[in-house]
Amino acid sequence: MTSITNDIHKKTILIATQNKNKRIEILDILKNIPGILFRDIEDFPFLPTVEEDKNTFQENAVKKATILAKACNTWVMADDSGLQIDALNGRPGVFSCRYAGPNATDEKNREKVLSELKGVPKERRTARFVCTIALASPHELFFVVEGRCEGFITEEPKGKRGFGYDPIFYVPQYHQTFGELHSSIKNMISHRADALKQFKERIMPLIRKI
Ligand code: IMP
Repeated sequence: MTSITNDIHKKTILIATQNKNKRIEILDILKNIPGILFRDIEDFPFLPTVEEDKNTFQENAVKKATILAKACNTWVMADDSGLQIDALNGRPGVFSCRYAGPNATDEKNREKVLSELKGVPKERRTARFVCTIALASPHELFFVVEGRCEGFITEEPKGKRGFGYDPIFYVPQYHQTFGELHSSIKNMISHRADALKQFKERIMPLIRKI
């Protein structure tokens, strides 16, 4: 009873990502914010599909947050993220999820990156993960934040943890890939952690005003 009463006084925010791994990371980082009830996309089965067809992470996140906030009449946080590799002029970028084709697996995407980087020396294999998060209500866009995590692309996959490009993303300060690092460490230093830290700072004053 107490928890139901408490939930009524909380602000509902829909986490608009289909990717279960990302939702787990987001909830793990945001779990201690008071006054917010996070809901999953599965709780809103009739939402429209929003195509991520823009040229930047920011434009995609804003598009998703604003359209879905109107559609489900609640606050929505939407993110777009991906990998930028300097030697590939920033690719795969906004195409990270589908780099090797429309239904590409994580493994195929990694293989494509590694084959494009064949022969590129270590010092030129610099890359970063970027995560952009937008928060919108049905009436307005509140803010957009962007987090980054710098590293290098390895010559072969290492580790089985995480998802996506984690096994080929080497983090110099830990001498391991995201595929080898424990999730508790990844969730402290990742692009998503960086963006969510900024998200927390920006959302607190909004929640206090309600
Ligand atoms: P999104 O779901 O449109 O943001 O696509 C992001 C894509 O970028 C994912 O499918 C992954 O391929 C990649 N990506 C984003 N964040 C991560 C991460 O933390 N680890 C590994 N790959 C990631």
